[in-house]
Amino acid sequence: MKQLILLFVFQLFSQFASAQQHPNIIVFLVDDMGWQDCSLPFWKDKTPLNKKYHTPNMERLASEGMKFTNAYAAPVCTPSRSAMLSGMNPAHLGVTNWTSPIKDNNTDNPDDQFAPADWNINGLSPVPGIAKTAYATPFPQLLKDAGYFTIHVGKAHWAPMGTPGANPHNMGFMVNIAGHAAGHPQSYLPEQNYGNFPKQQAHAQAVPDLEEYYGSNTFLTEALTLEALKALDEPIQRRQPFYLNMAHYAVHVPIMADKRFLKKYLDAGLDSTEAAYATLVEGMDKSLGDIMNYLKKKSIEKNTVLIFMSDNGGLSLSPARGGAAHTQNLPLKAGKGSVYEGGIREPMIVKYTPLVKPATVAEQYVIIEDFFPTILELAGVKNYKTVQQLDGKSFVPILKNPAWKDDTRALVWHYPNKWIGKDGPGINYFSAIRKGNWKLVYSLRNSKSELYNLDEDIGEHHDLSKENPAKTNELKSLLGERLSGWDAPMPVDKKTNRPVPFPGAR
Ligand code: CA
Repeated sequence: MKQLILLFVFQLFSQFASAQQHPNIIVFLVDDMGWQDCSLPFWKDKTPLNKKYHTPNMERLASEGMKFTNAYAAPVCTPSRSAMLSGMNPAHLGVTNWTSPIKDNNTDNPDDQFAPADWNINGLSPVPGIAKTAYATPFPQLLKDAGYFTIHVGKAHWAPMGTPGANPHNMGFMVNIAGHAAGHPQSYLPEQNYGNFPKQQAHAQAVPDLEEYYGSNTFLTEALTLEALKALDEPIQRRQPFYLNMAHYAVHVPIMADKRFLKKYLDAGLDSTEAAYATLVEGMDKSLGDIMNYLKKKSIEKNTVLIFMSDNGGLSLSPARGGAAHTQNLPLKAGKGSVYEGGIREPMIVKYTPLVKPATVAEQYVIIEDFFPTILELAGVKNYKTVQQLDGKSFVPILKNPAWKDDTRALVWHYPNKWIGKDGPGINYFSAIRKGNWKLVYSLRNSKSELYNLDEDIGEHHDLSKENPAKTNELKSLLGERLSGWDAPMPVDKKTNRPVPFPGAR
């Protein structure tokens, strides 16, 4: 009896200690959501795009937490998602383009000038020795080892089918709902079984695991939210700290209307594509609100870190999106796939009551590889071992002090691939570097540099490279040093049959 009581007291104590030292953590990751795809302004002025969208729960989250106005990811999915899980820059990983669901399949488009760069076409791998992968220790594995209950819901897209990285269980997740090798859903619609069409050839993009919603009225975003909340019951009942990777398929193509929200956007005069896109955004926002309400109902909202993020800029290609091409992220230039701000700047918000003051704004720039050390620090996981060398830096100091400033750090983007058939602004074979308010955009096609002062020119309209050759050369050299230090993949010049030299190298 005495032993039982002691055990009970010990359990109570360890649960208390666990709750204090190991908060629950949720990353709410949206797919392809642009910096202006919300009613919450991330710029100094409210824009027409802020008026177009309705995201009341993002507004609510920002009023309870910290808004990051200079948060970045890579220009496309797999590099961002792999950087987040590994804490490494995509150029360092060698995972610079999106991965195909099919193993050994290079997704680069053919090009007259270049043969493809030697990049890791099989994505991220949690085990060594898999051809054409980047081997790294994923942070969910470290959380699981530290006693966290780890859950993945929604889009994974770290690696192709038939490789270990395709399966969220291998990345350290105890529960996986609907995550696999694909980068988009075949369908958002329950009447189409989310792309699992009966008596038809199977699609690699058919969403797995949601059979009980087939033929219902439950849009994909809603089904994922319901399943995520169900999965949270287990660790909450056991008082075990949890990590939830809430990775929505929304708002990636195929742009399909979520009928619950459609009427008001059509009434507002949006074309059918943009109205459907706005419903994908609002459905995602409802999911955020449902999760916030759930945390409150379970009395764990104060002990839960909630991080909102997107994995790349909003799609700005026409006619995939309505309206003129590359206007969907204004005032930012271009969109998904580009190293201009429209392709990489993300809406990011962090709520964590014990650390973050409500309604605060951080202007310090951060990048998606920073999530790795930040999450482990917030989780109280110390002295962990990884096979990889981290590039990310913890942003916990910023959470404690929104005025925290570091102008000496340099962020790097590197996209040595051909994403789409026809070149666009900052799209296909570009790199970029930001240090302080200065940003250099570098074309791998012609070695030309552009220099922008983001403080005065967020739209990257005024190239200052000729006016300020000293800053241009400084950033170009630094970009070249980083890329060569990481042995970053470079496209191969078909004339010389050699990789393009690193910036600043002869
Ligand atoms: Ca994406």
